[in-house]
Amino acid sequence: MELTVLGCSGSGPGPNSPSSGYLVRIGDRTLALDLGNGVLGAMHRELDPFDLDGLFLSHLHPDHCSDVSSLVVYRRYHPAPPYPPASRRLPVYGPAETADRLVAQYGTCAYERDTEDLTDVLDIRSVGDGDRIDFAGAVLRTRRVVHPCESYAIRVEYEGRSLVYSGDTAASPALVELSRGADVMLCEATWPHTGPNGELPPPGIHLSGTEAGEHAAAAGVGRLLITHVAVWHDAAILLAEAKATFNGPVELVSAGAHYKI
Ligand SMILES: [Zn+2]
Ligand SMILES: [Zn+2]
Repeated sequence: MELTVLGCSGSGPGPNSPSSGYLVRIGDRTLALDLGNGVLGAMHRELDPFDLDGLFLSHLHPDHCSDVSSLVVYRRYHPAPPYPPASRRLPVYGPAETADRLVAQYGTCAYERDTEDLTDVLDIRSVGDGDRIDFAGAVLRTRRVVHPCESYAIRVEYEGRSLVYSGDTAASPALVELSRGADVMLCEATWPHTGPNGELPPPGIHLSGTEAGEHAAAAGVGRLLITHVAVWHDAAILLAEAKATFNGPVELVSAGAHYKI
């Protein structure tokens, strides 16, 4: 497997990266994980979006799904598509409200939101806690994690190797269970563990660098990749936090980075 970071800026795009989006190459197939603001542009540098084989949406915050609207335009209106789009609808795996959410963000007025139907180009499938999905010879496993909305982490297993992506989550025993023994854990760390006056961040939303390291250590992963640092925080502080709580290799990801899994 190979992981490509299309975007990793937490909670919104930043000067050096789009919002959240990744490609996982599984043999000769490609699965995208999230498609936030600006990610589709970065995707064009890696592959023709027609060649995408599947898309997993961890949750429905805009920084993880807003470019699906642009992907619909591309697949629906491209003047010379490589095949009739309706003959190869893109499988999209996401929370229960994925279809309603994507229609609502695509429709520009109440009439369109009532009549729009994306099923000509998308095949939207709801996921739940503990699901197993067979995809291109790989096994995908999902766990519900802790966030203000329905949100999932995903584990991708292929030919004896494994990658876990946390999506957005606060401290989560389910994330540790899903990540147990994974070769690579791509884990969010959005903010420092303590604020400027020593205060703890609000509960139930995101992980700190300290907590990302703690989750990686508890799960015994081989390597920790830190992502989703909010643009207004110093990533170096979060990286130092994670290194203080996880003894294995840790690094901050950046847009355009590739990793062999
Ligand atoms: Zn986010
Ligand atoms: Zn979120």
